[in-house]
Amino acid sequence: MENKRAAFLSLGCKVNSYETDAIEKQFKEDGYNIVDFGQVADVYVINTCSVTNMADRKSRQMISRARKNNDKAIVVATGCYIQTAKEEKIRKELKIDIAVGNNKKGSVLKAVKEFENSGDRQIDIININEKCEYEDTPIEETLENTRAYIKIQDGCNQFCAYCVIPYARGRIRSRQKSSIVSEVNNLVKNGYKEVVVTGIHLSSYGLDFAQDTYSMKDYCPFKYEYLLEVLIEINKIAGLDRIRLGSLEPRIITKEFLEGLKKVTKLCPHFHLSLQSGCDATLKRMNRKYDTDKYLESLKLIREYYDNPGITTDVIVGFPMESEEEFEQTEVFLSKCKFSMMHIFKYSRREGTVADKMSGQVDEKIKSERSHRLLKLTQELNKEYCQSYINKEVEVLLEESITYMNKQYVSGYTTNYIKVFVPADNIVGDIRNSLVRVLITEYIGENTLMGQNCK
Ligand code: SF4
Repeated sequence: MENKRAAFLSLGCKVNSYETDAIEKQFKEDGYNIVDFGQVADVYVINTCSVTNMADRKSRQMISRARKNNDKAIVVATGCYIQTAKEEKIRKELKIDIAVGNNKKGSVLKAVKEFENSGDRQIDIININEKCEYEDTPIEETLENTRAYIKIQDGCNQFCAYCVIPYARGRIRSRQKSSIVSEVNNLVKNGYKEVVVTGIHLSSYGLDFAQDTYSMKDYCPFKYEYLLEVLIEINKIAGLDRIRLGSLEPRIITKEFLEGLKKVTKLCPHFHLSLQSGCDATLKRMNRKYDTDKYLESLKLIREYYDNPGITTDVIVGFPMESEEEFEQTEVFLSKCKFSMMHIFKYSRREGTVADKMSGQVDEKIKSERSHRLLKLTQELNKEYCQSYINKEVEVLLEESITYMNKQYVSGYTTNYIKVFVPADNIVGDIRNSLVRVLITEYIGENTLMGQNCK
């Protein structure tokens, strides 16, 4: 008898992708053949997202697509859209067989087997306000070739006004150090040389391990010692060359934290420091818990400890009541920060959030115009940053073969996350997953440089 086929689709963030990889691993180990989502499968698993109303719509569309692909398949939906949707809606409107709550993703295979045996439609949505433990769903490989994302934390206690995540994923939960180290060991055995340590709110890692309570008013309300312990332990793993950090909160950046990070010798000098707005009044309305002074201080500190680090960020334009003057403050602030890259998002309403109920929603046309202005600024800042590497030697972790202007190249990333093309005939030996030294010769476009392999 032929093996059963399972297809997976992950929407939204890297944490979702990580969890989808973990679910897929269980199906593979159970003998399933993994097929593309567009193909006919016996089981479809959609890991949904709910970050905006648009993400909700996409989640519903993908569920319908799975059902269309094979009317007889078992369709499983999990993730933030499922977690926040009303149970009645799930039962009446979604053509799924199984709904799995965010903290039960490790039980998807089990739920499918039970469904097959009983034929009963199961709705398993956990109450996210209950105190729940971190759900361990380890992976050994990922869809990315050389870089593995590892999830070490779930949930968020920050309640930013525009975000549904604290409702969808519940309170913070941290993964045990031993489980993280064991996962990285397995990934390294499978050939991965770089790991990205990630979480829903990574800076909160370990807060649930700490005995003492913390106050939002504290200068650094995070228990970064736990994160440092994990990083120092991973740093010892032979065969692992690079450790990258996921998004951090500016408040975690202190001298003490950076002193600790310097001991993590494999850490890439690439920091994603979430900003969202460069205007204090807007930050306050967003319920972000830092101001622009603190943010600048964090940038200054990082630059004292690391030479020309890559610093990336996220910015939301058109948050409710954002006036032209407020937006201009953001624009000026962003230029001052000299980011290597910025991700610009137009504010998008999400039902169930505080911001959705705010007056002064900004017109879509104005949002687009502001977004264009910041995208232009991003290009300028990114070009300036990339060009600072011309005639310098950098280390590149090679990832894939590509064709550019009819010629063959191998591309990879520097430690500070700039893409580099190296002529393929320059590479001796394994073109994938090798670390090479490259002399940068020119800037060729968005976040991309050209170089020659140093022999
Ligand atoms: S920090 Fe804010 S934006 Fe990030 S997950 Fe938590 S509530 Fe959402």
